[in-house]
Amino acid sequence: MSAQARPLFEFPLRTRLFIDGAWCVPETKQRLPVVNPSTEETIVEVEAGGPADVDRAVRAASHAFLAWKQRSGAQRAAFLRAIARGVEAHCEHLAALQSLNNGKPIAESRIDVGDVAATFDYYADLAETLDAAEEEIAIPSSEHRAVIRREPAGVVGLIVPWNFPMVTTAWKLAPALAAGCTVVLKPSEFTPLPELELAAIIERAGLPPGVFNVVTGTGTEVGAALTTHPLVSKVSFTGSTAVGEQVMKAAASSIKGVSLELGGKSPIIVFADADLDLAVDLVVGGAFFNAGQMCSATSRVLVERPLAQALIARLADRVARTVVGDPFASGVQMGPLTNRAQYERVQRFISRGKADGASLVVQGGAPEGPGYFVQPTLFVDVPTSSAVWREEIFGPVLCVRSFDTEDDAVASANDTEFGLVATVVTRDAARGQRVAGALQAGVVWINAPQLIFPQTSWGGYKKSSIGRELGPFGLAAFQEVKQILSPRPVTSERLFEA
Ligand code: NDP
Repeated sequence: MSAQARPLFEFPLRTRLFIDGAWCVPETKQRLPVVNPSTEETIVEVEAGGPADVDRAVRAASHAFLAWKQRSGAQRAAFLRAIARGVEAHCEHLAALQSLNNGKPIAESRIDVGDVAATFDYYADLAETLDAAEEEIAIPSSEHRAVIRREPAGVVGLIVPWNFPMVTTAWKLAPALAAGCTVVLKPSEFTPLPELELAAIIERAGLPPGVFNVVTGTGTEVGAALTTHPLVSKVSFTGSTAVGEQVMKAAASSIKGVSLELGGKSPIIVFADADLDLAVDLVVGGAFFNAGQMCSATSRVLVERPLAQALIARLADRVARTVVGDPFASGVQMGPLTNRAQYERVQRFISRGKADGASLVVQGGAPEGPGYFVQPTLFVDVPTSSAVWREEIFGPVLCVRSFDTEDDAVASANDTEFGLVATVVTRDAARGQRVAGALQAGVVWINAPQLIFPQTSWGGYKKSSIGRELGPFGLAAFQEVKQILSPRPVTSERLFEA
């Protein structure tokens, strides 16, 4: 490892559970090591909660629910804005903590922190709109009047992964609080440090005790207890498709609502008329940002045959020159993978690709370790039956195939059990729109990088999602809808009609 300055933390690292407004130790009396993926050293140990701690947190959230729900949208918005300002004020600290714990380059962590603050600000705006409350439904020539009210879902359980720890949390937490729900959050066992610091910021923002609780620990202990707790009305989960299926089954026993944001195996379609420089940037960004640990990674490249050779040559050059290393070192473009299990999984995929007959064009350099560094890898002519073409790798592995017609490109792009995102690169605007319309994906970028604005939507088709996050959809996910029907008040107009 290079001798780059490590971040100096102004505060001691948070390691305890945050329940009912207090930092506490779990009843399990157990702790989990949190590992720096760049060095494989233990940074610190955090408390590992269990079902009894989940129960305590859920009861605190349940107790706080009524008062939180009764606050006006404007009052809840003020708390959300205070959180956003706290996040901004601690931007460098949060970013450094995330890069230390997750391994992503510090510049990427700063982008994440900006996204977190923007998400809290956006849902503050939406919370204010809730004060306009009821919406009347037009029922022609009825003696009755129907209004629709949106009410908070109740106590909600939020379960998040390690690849974008703070962002996946903010996308759930901000709308849940805006809607008037109270929350129990379970961060990933691999990356609890950013969320524990976020909890400290939320504490300083002055939220009433019990409105927001964090229970760190494993999925099998804490996550499973949250998904089955009878006082939890809804579970919002981001993670793997396999665990998402378990969450859905567990939630079924008490008929809880579930929102799922799961995996992807997304395509980027490059037509022969594309701007080559732009196409290279979009392919590289879509595959290697966060070392490819993105549910939205566009890791399946479909290139129209006349451009294939030129695109592959340019990609090979970029992959070979990718700087992999210490996330705090200047010039580093890719850090390590976040944990050992993921590192081993990606190495297995690379071996599978070779064994399945995919042609390995280039592997870039990577430090030998310690640290979970993986060489960025480019395969071409990948058989469609190969696991590297069909399964989510969640690492820096790019797979390329060529196509001859637009219809072939769309059919290949849609030939997957997932449907999260897709990118289309073409100078033909009409074709861009036509292909976007034909793709089975929740988000389509045309000639654009993977920008995600809180005002829009997030989620996908098929096995990628149930429900949508962000935008008004993200708020609706934490609301119940109530219809109130009553006789229409007698107005002077109606008296005259009578
Ligand atoms: P996992 O599914 O392994 O874990 C996600 C979360 O679920 C973790 O907090 C985990 O706990 C918890 N968990 C594990 N088992 C259970 C259980 N039985 N009941 C309840 N909770 C449980 O995903 P990863 O953390 O490995 O994240 C990678 C995956 O997340 C990828 O497949 C990726 O595609 C997906 N993802 C999807 C996104 C989207 O928006 N669609 C965004 C980001 C990631 P712990 O690990 O602490 O034990």
